[in-house]
Amino acid sequence: MSDKAPERKASRFPLRLDQMVGAARPVVSRDSLLLRPQAPLQAAERDRKAVMAPQGLGLDSVHVRMRMVERLKADGLQNPRVLAAFARVPRHLFVDTALVNQSYEDTSLPIGLGQTISKPSVVGAMIALLCTRPGLAADATRPLGMCLEIGTGCGYQAALLADLSRQVISIERLRDLHLKARHNLDSVRRQLPGSPDVRLVYGDGMLGHAPSAPYDTIIAAAGGRSLPQAWLDQLAPGGRLVAPMDDGRGQGQVLTVVDRHLDGRLQQTSSGAVLFVPLKSGIT
Ligand code: SAH
Repeated sequence: MSDKAPERKASRFPLRLDQMVGAARPVVSRDSLLLRPQAPLQAAERDRKAVMAPQGLGLDSVHVRMRMVERLKADGLQNPRVLAAFARVPRHLFVDTALVNQSYEDTSLPIGLGQTISKPSVVGAMIALLCTRPGLAADATRPLGMCLEIGTGCGYQAALLADLSRQVISIERLRDLHLKARHNLDSVRRQLPGSPDVRLVYGDGMLGHAPSAPYDTIIAAAGGRSLPQAWLDQLAPGGRLVAPMDDGRGQGQVLTVVDRHLDGRLQQTSSGAVLFVPLKSGIT
């Protein structure tokens, strides 16, 4: 018997990237977060460096994506279904090649034609608001029900919504982005067979989409001066709408939530300042 400390199990060579990164970065538990409030920031910085590594986002993307989910959770996103959707949808497949290294940072990124893919934390907060609409059964398997999205952009948010909805209809007014989203969502479906489908519509989302109305949930990724009447008309009883809207005092946008009660009454509340691209009418 040897008196030396037992040797560590021989490591396989080469190590997989996730083993190398994982060894250096233990998962931050909730308790340790309380003791080390800087931990999420330090983890984010380590992630930024890892993501900037030249290996790119191939096999290691799952690990990097899970780090983003951990950060969203540490920053207060509680809903397990929403977190699961973020864990499943590969955000890097929706951003341009030149920006792929930033795809799992909590930041908005340009997607062409002057538009941006929204920050994951903002997207998460909006979807979580939809998932907690009043009157929704706690065990609903598809909490967003029939869902309308205005502003498809690159299709990322639509892919998240699809995980939580019975059906998503997503409208985009810019033809090139509508086509880009179709391409992106097709790529995801090739990589993740069985992914829920999204119905993409090229049109003016200010008019909503009457053929599939009413909607249990409506979410807008662009903000205007007021909420278009069509959105309110197409919101089902028990439904909830979440959209950025000018605050009316020239101070910027606020996140606006509208609930349609079962008796048809509408109730509007605001929750916090946001910054979204403008809602525009017509198509291009
Ligand atoms: N959810 C998108 C974010 C896109 S940015 C994503 O995950 O990428 C907002 C989008 O709203 C832009 O693409 C913009 O062209 C679109 N938009 C603005 N006004 C619109 C309108 N009236 N109808 C449909 N889309 C609109």
